[in-house]
Amino acid sequence: MGKKRVGGKGDSTEQKIKRDFVERSIWEEKGISRRDFMKFCSAMSAALALPVTFAPRIAEALDQVKRPTLVWLEFQDCAGNTEALLRASSPTVTELVLDVLSIDYHETIMAAAGHQAEAALAKVLKEQKGKYIVVVEGSIPLKDNGVYCCIGGRSALDIAREVCGNAFATIAVGSCASFGGLPAAAPNPTGAVGVKEAVPNARVINLPGCPLNPDNLTATVVHYLTFNKLPTTDSLGRPLFAYGKRIHDACERRPHFDAGQYVESWGDHGHKKGFCLYKMGCKGPETFHNCPTQRYNEKTSWPVAAGHGCAGCSEPQFWDTMTPFYKRLPNVPGFGIESTADKIGAGIAVATAAAFAAHGVVSALRKGDDQSGKKED
Ligand code: SF4
Repeated sequence: MGKKRVGGKGDSTEQKIKRDFVERSIWEEKGISRRDFMKFCSAMSAALALPVTFAPRIAEALDQVKRPTLVWLEFQDCAGNTEALLRASSPTVTELVLDVLSIDYHETIMAAAGHQAEAALAKVLKEQKGKYIVVVEGSIPLKDNGVYCCIGGRSALDIAREVCGNAFATIAVGSCASFGGLPAAAPNPTGAVGVKEAVPNARVINLPGCPLNPDNLTATVVHYLTFNKLPTTDSLGRPLFAYGKRIHDACERRPHFDAGQYVESWGDHGHKKGFCLYKMGCKGPETFHNCPTQRYNEKTSWPVAAGHGCAGCSEPQFWDTMTPFYKRLPNVPGFGIESTADKIGAGIAVATAAAFAAHGVVSALRKGDDQSGKKED
């Protein structure tokens, strides 16, 4: 493209990246400007809770990566996570990641079908053993030898054991692949479970949510490509960069919670004013996810911003434990015996937040929960 060489030997990493970009312009050829590319890398630094100074390192990794193979399996699901990824928007999040990955098998979007498709999967297993990444969408039924979900004449369980068991890592996307999801709702007629339960020896990272936030998948892949390892997780296998904080602690309605200002009924004065949705069943106080900061649809919005309480969809068994969805949590952990949403004040709420920070993530939350069975109205 006749680009002019700039800079030289003692350049900083950032200068080197800029120079390489000018020389080769591979992203420009894909219709992505250097500005957008660096913007994306900065956004990934933020998503991974890293200082912005990591952006050049991410850029360098993405620029040099040798297209690791990715296999995407779909089992008992609604394809909502595939939809979420494919509909991710500018600055071409999916393009940037999909361009640096070689997606050799994806039942929903691949051109091949039937025996040709299965041959592509067999080729990966044979030639890339221990090196490829698997993304799994959907739960795996265990009941009756897994007969309730079969692809190409094999059960999902059989496929998962082989494909996930021989991968470098498996990323379970969405609540179904992570924890069983809605197919596992009581009475769980198919015996649905998440990937880790079905294939205990697999290295699995869970990205629950219904659907997952594609930015979190992108950030997980970028983390792997940049640092050659998976991000640190909590005890449920969820990366801390995305699931390390409670929704309640980053929610924009939190000042109303602290001030005791609640929506009492849909469409009332408080609802119109953006008051807290706790009394309408919001499960934000028990849910760990970065929805308030990462948001969806080009960071436009998220359920609570749109006026609906959090359903707790990134927590295990939320379909059973967080229901009824429109009934308030019986006891928000850590508030103390007398503290209800009606009585809570800013001081108590701050103390609660500090207690959660000190105790860590979900395990602490569960331990701190009031098990007395006492319910508020
Ligand atoms: S209860 Fe829900 S709406 Fe209220 S502050 Fe917490 S997360 Fe936000």
